[in-house]
Amino acid sequence: MIDKVTIIKTTKMAEEIVKKYPISPAVKNAIIQTNREVFVPLALRHNAYRLDALPIGAQQYISSPLTVAKMTQYLNVTGCDSVLEIGCGSGYQAAVLSKLFRRVFTIERIETLLSEAKERFRSLQLSNIHTRTDDGQNGWEQYAPFDRILFSASARTIPQKLFDQLREGGILIAPMEKGREQVITRFTKQGRQILEDALEACDFVPIVDGVIR
Ligand code: SAH
Repeated sequence: MIDKVTIIKTTKMAEEIVKKYPISPAVKNAIIQTNREVFVPLALRHNAYRLDALPIGAQQYISSPLTVAKMTQYLNVTGCDSVLEIGCGSGYQAAVLSKLFRRVFTIERIETLLSEAKERFRSLQLSNIHTRTDDGQNGWEQYAPFDRILFSASARTIPQKLFDQLREGGILIAPMEKGREQVITRFTKQGRQILEDALEACDFVPIVDGVIR
């Protein structure tokens, strides 16, 4: 449960997001129900409700709440059961997804970040989030197919393995590197085809190969 004082802050933040980007009532509610302070380093907590990315250690960042709202909206979550996230980081995006999906699977390559994220999920009693230390480009075969797949770090290409782990009609959202630019891209699986739509410019940290333990 989230306390009343926090709800006032997350609601104000959600209102700021809506002024910049239209999100569905369900996505807005998921943001209101997620205490972002828990995902931000102690020294930066006073900035937890600003629409900014913040450093979380290991040269990584918790995404801006505006970015998390957009990525979640792009997933078009109606009628979905499971989602796979690549790049758990602080865990904030996964926590927001946990309010919208029955099961969330999230993979992180840096073990220290993932153990901190797991502790946060435990303290918030988000028991529908399943975590794994791995290179997320492998996906998570055991729980496939997923209704949705979300890249929280930018990719040059999407491995075929991940399209194989996406259900028929499923959507994969990823920030794609195009030269020096990045574009949030929606891939929709239709039969043997993958439809691709460019959505908007963005700025994510890149996907890196391998695991750090
Ligand atoms: N979703 C996060 C954003 C984290 S930034 C949040 O809400 O805080 C992107 C994360 O992707 C980083 O933690 C980085 O370590 C991770 N990452 C980069 N390459 C990866 C890979 N190949 N597999 C899994 N995680 C990866």
